[in-house]
This record gives sequence, C-alpha cells and structure tokens, in this order.
Amino acid sequence: MPTTQAQLKALLVEAHVLDGEAFDELALRAKEEGVAISDLLTDLGLVTDEQLGQLLAHEYAVRFVRLGQERISDEILSLIPESFARAQLLIPVSQTASHVVIATAQPDDVIMRSLLEKYLRTQVVFAYATPRDLQNNLFLFRRDPREEFERIVAMKEQGGVEAAGAIIELVDIMMDSAYQAGSSDIHVEPEDDYTVVRYRTDGVLHDIARLPLSVHQSIITRLKVLGRLATDEHRTAQDGKITHKGPWGDEVEIRLSIVPTTHDEKAVMRLLSDKARRFHLTDLGLSKEDFAQFEEGIERPWGLILVTGPTGSGKTTSLYAALKVLNKREVNITTIEDPVEYDIEGVNQIQVNEKTGLTFAKGLRSIVRQDPDVIMVGEIRDKEAAGIAVNAAMTGHIVLSTLHTNDAATAFPRLVDMDVEDFLIASTVNMVIAQRLVRRVCMRCILSYAMTSTEKKMIEGNSIIQKYLKQITGKADLTKVRLFKGKGCPVCHYSGYAGRVGVFEVLEMSDAVREAVMARKNADEIHEIALGEGMTTMMHDGLRKVVEGVTTLEEVLRVIMEK
Ligand SMILES: [Zn+2]
Repeated sequence: MPTTQAQLKALLVEAHVLDGEAFDELALRAKEEGVAISDLLTDLGLVTDEQLGQLLAHEYAVRFVRLGQERISDEILSLIPESFARAQLLIPVSQTASHVVIATAQPDDVIMRSLLEKYLRTQVVFAYATPRDLQNNLFLFRRDPREEFERIVAMKEQGGVEAAGAIIELVDIMMDSAYQAGSSDIHVEPEDDYTVVRYRTDGVLHDIARLPLSVHQSIITRLKVLGRLATDEHRTAQDGKITHKGPWGDEVEIRLSIVPTTHDEKAVMRLLSDKARRFHLTDLGLSKEDFAQFEEGIERPWGLILVTGPTGSGKTTSLYAALKVLNKREVNITTIEDPVEYDIEGVNQIQVNEKTGLTFAKGLRSIVRQDPDVIMVGEIRDKEAAGIAVNAAMTGHIVLSTLHTNDAATAFPRLVDMDVEDFLIASTVNMVIAQRLVRRVCMRCILSYAMTSTEKKMIEGNSIIQKYLKQITGKADLTKVRLFKGKGCPVCHYSGYAGRVGVFEVLEMSDAVREAVMARKNADEIHEIALGEGMTTMMHDGLRKVVEGVTTLEEVLRVIMEK
C-alpha cells in the first residue's frame, strides 16, 4: 500500500472503524503473519473491501470504482495488453475523446501514469479499485477458448512440423481456460463424429467445443505424456497427476483419469486449484446484518455453532470462513473432516478414516482430550458424534459443525432426534446458519429487463414472495420491478451465470428460542419465534439478491423451494 501505515491508521480511526490501539495490534499481527494489513482488516470483517476502497480513494482524491458494476467493453480492455494488466494490476474502465480511465490500487504512481499516457497517446485518469477487486476482475481479459481451438486445429490440419506443437498448445489452452473460468473438471469425450470438450463450472457441465476426431488421439497421447502414463496402453483405465503451470505463474494440480470407452479413450481432468482461496463470509454473500450477528455468535467463549443445508450448499466453505476469523495465534484449533478439503495454516486438521476406525465420533473424542479452544467437526452424522460435540461445547470449547437440515429451526428437533437432551441443546447452541448456493448473474453480460408474464405469475401466486419484495423494493406495484439476467457471453459459456453466492438465514439463540427448545416445540414454531425476533429467511435474503442483480428470481425459486 503506497499510503503509509500511519496515514491508514489515521484514516481508519477517523472513520471509527477501530481505535488506534487495536490498529497497532493488528499491524503487529499482519507483520508477524506476513500479510498486508488491508487484507487482515477485511478478512477479520472489521471493514469491507468496498469501505476500505472508498476511504482510500477519498484520500487519494480520485474516483472509486467497483469493477463488477462497470460495463467494460472488449474494445476498452484491448487498450492494454493482458500480460501488462496482470503484471501491473491495472484495468482500463472507460474512454472519452480526451482521456482513458484506468483502475489501479496505486493512483499516486505518476511514473506509471506517464508511461501509460505515452503508450496510449492520450491523457490517463486513474481511478481507485481495491487490489482484491482488480484481481477478481482480471478474468475480463479472458478470450473465448473456442476461437483458439479452431485456430490450432486449422494449424494442425495443415500438418508438417507444426502439428505436434499445435497439440501441445491446444492442451495448454484447455487447462488455462478451464482454470481461468474457475471450472473444476475438463472432459474430453469422443463421440461418433466429433470429440467434445466440456468444462464443469459451478457444478454444471458445459459443452465448450467440438473438435474433429482426427485430433482426439493426439490429445489423449499428450495428456498421457503429461501424466506419465503408458502411451501405448489403450485397453485399461489409467490415473495420473499433472502439475500445470499457467501463463501467470499459478500452479494447478490436475488429477487425470483415462478410461477406454466403446468409441475411443475418454479423458477426465479434475482441477485442484492451488490458488490461495479466500474464505470471507461477506464474499460468500452474507449480508452485513447477518455478518454482525455471526460475529457476535463466535465471540462467545464457548458453545455450538451449526451450519445447515443439503449436500452442495456450501456449508463447508462457511465453516472454513468462520475458522479463518477465529484463527489467531493464541487460539488452538483442531478439525476433524471427511475429506479435508483445504489446508489452513496454523490449524491441526484430522482426516476421518473409517477403514482404520477413525470415525467422526472417535476423532472428536481424542481431540477433546487435547483441549483445543476451537473444534470443527465436518459433519454431525450420528448420535455418538452429536453427544460428544454438545459435551465439548458445554465444557468450554467453541464447536463448529454442519447438520443436514433444510432450514435453521429444524436443527433443534434434529438434535433431539439424535438423543441430545433438550436442556443441553438450549444451553450450548449459540447460533444456527442455514444456507443454499445460487448461481451469480454473469457480470460481463448482465442486463436489466421488465418482469416477464411468467415471472409475474410466479409472484402473484405466492404471498410470502410478494411481502418480501414489497419490503425490499418499497414498491406497492411489483410489476414495475426490473429484474436482471445474463445475456450470455464467452465468460459464462453462454449460460448467463458465472460463479455462485450463498443465501443465508442466521438464527441466533435467544431466551424465547431457548424456552421453545426446552418445551420441545416443533421447527415451524421455532422458526416463527425467530422471525418475530428479526431473523431474515433464506427466501428474503435470496430475493434481496434478485433485486440487487446478484442472481435471478428463477434461480432463487429453484434452489430454495427444492427440498
Ligand atoms: Zn456472460
């Protein structure tokens, strides 16, 4: 950060973000951990990335930009070469006859500005964007892999010495583009007339390209070479590992599986992203109000915090985000997980192994003996684990775990079903968070539109949706509400969606909820009590994200209604 630490401190103290003493403490910790203080501030949720950005932009006396809210055309992007933008963390935002606006986190870098002015032959105006925002939006430079594939296939078909090199490049582009798109898998599958390339992104498999069958075997051979497999073996399944280095230095571990099919061999690659993953609950979509509640919940010295939802609802990611907030040097954190999905520095992580008898319950029992401050149990699956988790919470530990229930209130009767005494539930559970994942509207091709007749009908038939939408928009006539969707572009593989975001409900333990649990009230009754105390439901949170253009009405209804 170009502003001095003292300036940043003065700025944050003046804005009442934190006091001087707290700042000094954090500065020390940031130094010890070797991280930027701005990252620490946002990771701890003391200030959002956006608030910090606004403060700094004001300090630099330049405009503040949120790149996700700008419509940046390809023409604007092409003003600066991608490699330069990546290296210098700059993104051009807009252009007029007299100047070009470029987003940067270092708007006081006059040398860079004059360099850019010489290169662009026009005046450059810097705007401030946070480093995280810039990093997250470099994907805008991404080109359509289809065009690249076509170019290479044409080159290969001309034959000659170029051919082998062309396949190497094609496979590289395949891995780079899938990684850049945040895809988890690549499939290369031979069919009757084509070989089809598919990427799995946000859980959905998309067709990316059809290549002529003539290149299929060359691709498979190249993959076998990279995965150190037998290139002359075509009849059995083979598994390998590839470490792929992307053009910007990121290393991606790839698990390769090749299986013979009736047509030819099929390859599936699983990308194990090595990128430092950021787990922050506000990045995951937790609203400010819910985040404040969450912070209160984890500040208590002991108790049980549960995250609930079906499989694939992002529960584990939320637990990791919570751990990240709790992960301080003086706190001992131990986890038992199945599987351990991400390594977290400074946390002891244990992998469940049913074969050797290391179950959740057994692991948990031995963890408690080691007396950690915080325990994370991947999932409470049975009565035994439930009993130990509640006991650990009662004896002075913070216990984080997940339960497979549809909403927050149902967690209480579920624990009763698992033979946990109601008074123990009432006295140990601090908070229950329920969540789902919805797909985000692609920011590259987002557009707003007037509600369709189908959508009007969906709303007319549902009084809860009507009530929430009126609260959120403040409009009596809901047919006037404009909605958002992605038109479809290369970034989102023409689906209109890119990435996912959580919708949440946070149920805090209160006296009234405690009484209801002791009285063995059912989930609906507990839900009503929590609503009365100001809990926002997942539907409410989801609809708010619809109105804000984060997701679509269709997506929220699909995800929240399904049981
Ligand atoms: Zn798009």
